[in-house]
Amino acid sequence: MIYFDNGATTPLYPEVVESMKQVLGNYYGNPSSLHHLGVQADKLLEQSRELAAKFLGVNPGEVIFTSGATESNNTAIKGVAFQYGKRGKHIITSAIEHSAVYDTCIQLRDHFGYELTILPVDKDGMVRIEDLKNAVREDTILVSIMYINNEVGSIQPIAEIGKVLRDYPKILFHVDAVQAFGKIPVEPSKVGVDLLSLSAHKFHGPKGIGLLYVRKGIKLLPLMAGGGQEGNYRSGTENLAGIVGMVKAMRITLEKLNHQSNELSQARKVLWNGLQQLEGCYLNTPEQGSPHILNFSLPGLKSEVVLHALEDEGIYVSTKSACSSKSGLPSRVLSAMGLDDERAKSSIRVSLSYLNTLDEARQFNETITKLVPQIKKMLNVK
Ligand code: PLP
Repeated sequence: MIYFDNGATTPLYPEVVESMKQVLGNYYGNPSSLHHLGVQADKLLEQSRELAAKFLGVNPGEVIFTSGATESNNTAIKGVAFQYGKRGKHIITSAIEHSAVYDTCIQLRDHFGYELTILPVDKDGMVRIEDLKNAVREDTILVSIMYINNEVGSIQPIAEIGKVLRDYPKILFHVDAVQAFGKIPVEPSKVGVDLLSLSAHKFHGPKGIGLLYVRKGIKLLPLMAGGGQEGNYRSGTENLAGIVGMVKAMRITLEKLNHQSNELSQARKVLWNGLQQLEGCYLNTPEQGSPHILNFSLPGLKSEVVLHALEDEGIYVSTKSACSSKSGLPSRVLSAMGLDDERAKSSIRVSLSYLNTLDEARQFNETITKLVPQIKKMLNVK
């Protein structure tokens, strides 16, 4: 089996499972309880927060644990909108955001009276700095731009955007860094980011846990009112096993980023070269994109047909982002990059992790090179 759908989710590192088992078995106290079991759990929670903060180069008080990136994105965007709505009601985002950002902004526009500017992207799926500069207004309160796009792997100019926004101290900058953590260095405080979302299951941690970096001093109206946990940004009893598992996965992933990032890029390069030689195949991914994502189209062949033919050979890929792959509509991201419907409807995403090998990339190339002419012949496609 070759698992090339790591953009959707990743298998857990065995060490992560082990740590979580320990916590589930031994640390069942509620971190808010005053007795010994609570104190023990709280200590573990705060140790985890310190480590997560260290891995991001931020202060522990700036890390809030959430249930994943959907919650982190909603907390950041709605939290800013509702907290600073009196200052202004204009939000800027991009056309290629994950729906956890895109649809949140649309919701604010359609139901809460906010104004939205959706920045276009170029043919490589990149936001242009000039467009951002032109979009900024007197009443802009938030810019939300992702770090690495989850469908095509384009790496956005986050440091440059941060630099532009330094001239506008009243505009907060949120970054969905879900696909970036562990693939490129993610250090929010160095690049002028105020809020940053992560999700553990994209880097071999458990599902249902994530975090939000909130720069010191930023207020957010909490989505979850309740017991006041997580500095009152996010009430609810903490998912301690998930948090410990995520922090363990952060540690292992960063070690791999430091020591194995070349291997990941090489595997992508092998795939890139193989697909470039495949007749009728169009690469939708910028060559300088993320080391773990590659997107291509085979016009004339529906994505699902190719996906299932690969699956029959034991290779798992995806059509677009996992959460929108069942909608049947062409990818919003590929359409925003100017690709026609035919190309957008025949796209396949291959997404790698540090657990994949060069051999798997070669095997993929051999398989797809064999399969595509067979499928075309069977369907009578030229
Ligand atoms: N943002 C991006 C870029 C993603 O790729 C995903 C997951 O597909 C999410 C947000 C949502 O993350 P979660 O499933 O943890 O809520």
